[in-house]
Amino acid sequence: MKKHFDLIVIGGGSGGVAHARRAAEYGAQVALVEYGRLGGTCVNVGCVPKKVMWYTAGHAHHFEHAADYGFDVTVNGHDWRGLKRRRDAYIRRLNEIYGKLLDGSGVTTISGTARFIDAHTVAVGTEHYTAERIVVATGGRPMVPGLAGAELGITSDDFFALDERPQRVLIAGSGYIAVELAGVFHGLGSATQLVVRKDGIVRSFDAMLGSELMQAMHKDGVDIVTRVVPTALEQTAAGIVMHAGDGRSFGPADCVLWAIGREPNTDGLDLAKAGIKTDGGGFIPVDTLQQTNVEHIFALGDVTGRQALTPVAIAAGRRLADRLYGGMEGRRLDYKLVPTVIFSHPPIGTVGMTEDEARAEFGEAVNVYSSRFTAMYYALGDRKQRSVMKLITVGEDERIVGCHVIGDGADEMLQGFAVAIRMGATKADFDDTVAIHPTSAEELVTMR
Ligand SMILES: Cc1cc2nc3c(=O)[nH]c(=O)nc-3n(C[C@H](O)[C@H](O)[C@H](O)COP(=O)(O)OP(=O)(O)OC[C@H]3O[C@@H](n4cnc5c(N)ncnc54)[C@H](O)[C@@H]3O)c2cc1C
Repeated sequence: MKKHFDLIVIGGGSGGVAHARRAAEYGAQVALVEYGRLGGTCVNVGCVPKKVMWYTAGHAHHFEHAADYGFDVTVNGHDWRGLKRRRDAYIRRLNEIYGKLLDGSGVTTISGTARFIDAHTVAVGTEHYTAERIVVATGGRPMVPGLAGAELGITSDDFFALDERPQRVLIAGSGYIAVELAGVFHGLGSATQLVVRKDGIVRSFDAMLGSELMQAMHKDGVDIVTRVVPTALEQTAAGIVMHAGDGRSFGPADCVLWAIGREPNTDGLDLAKAGIKTDGGGFIPVDTLQQTNVEHIFALGDVTGRQALTPVAIAAGRRLADRLYGGMEGRRLDYKLVPTVIFSHPPIGTVGMTEDEARAEFGEAVNVYSSRFTAMYYALGDRKQRSVMKLITVGEDERIVGCHVIGDGADEMLQGFAVAIRMGATKADFDDTVAIHPTSAEELVTMR
């Protein structure tokens, strides 16, 4: 096998595959090293299986409202094992597609664990490979706290390996993965408790979103307990118990899930041998062009510690290839105004600045518009769910700098609005756009 390449990419996840393929399509000789399954976190233990589970819980939600629409439905249970089998088969197909796409683009795929020998040499097992440039796209993994009994808990990776749905679930964490998995367990019938360290959930997003989601989850029956600092897990005859610093305990549960953050996959890479610096958390800092402190070595995606999202890793990877191999000088990813969705129940869609961020930067020049309503879907029944939308504008011309939505449909609503906001849309542009009726999205162009 060939041993010298123009480019070696370490990591066959969202960012690595996107970069390798784009570079190869420009004519570069590219090798990609991956020790796991192609597609990385997103395909195997992230976005894709998560979204399947979100759809699954969504079905349970629809069954609850079926009678409002005249259906006499009896749900006789849910076959978690059968669902997992179909989900796993779907993911295996995606793994194969990724392999074929890499082959089709002329990328040499090397199976194994990569580590640096020096700034131009990567070892995989006993083989050494050299390249002009190296891109690190090794992603991250779920964190497990260093507490007594922590190993009794599972992580989001293990969630996707569960063959059966646990009946009593305790989730520690307040970020999007915690709330999404809580929504899945609860929707499918598990008694679900979410314990969070501070006072709220999804705290890096606009405060309205966290507060509305917390109310909606509470109302739906998820037990959210705040100000919990876990100190230990204990296996008791009745189940796993979580002890907290203030003397409280939680559980017993059949399953405790740690969703307390993610750490980078950098420790086994021998980065120091190539002279690559990491920050205190082990992430690889990069400049605006994805360049590390070593001129010909780049990093992208979750391993850089910036906006850990699949489309961000892909966009950074493709733009880097455009610049290095496609002659597009200066091409780089602008990390501002990245839209994102939280697949909670109800879902959240968000783009741009939070209200707090906008007020801190623009002070009095900020205007906030909001709308609260019950979507028409709930009009015929008693179980209603509120939707809330917020637009944040700045200055005389009321340029929109933030748009935050929670409620059914938010997940599919934001992409188009994100285009408009990136193009500099103002409140007047939104007002001038004729509404689509009857939808929830129309509220965004009819706010006063
Ligand atoms: C539960 C969950 C849900 C998520 N949901 C969403 C979502 O809905 N939308 C969204 O945009 N994002 C979501 N994400 C985030 C998304 O999955 C990541 O941002 C994305 O996968 C990052 O891509 P990456 O290329 O940086 O890393 P990864 O996809 O993690 O790929 C890194 C790859 O490198 C490999 N690797 C690591 N070290 C080595 C080594 N030394 N040698 C060889 N190979 C190595 C790993 O095996 C892995 O395949 C979710 C993540 C999780 C955990």
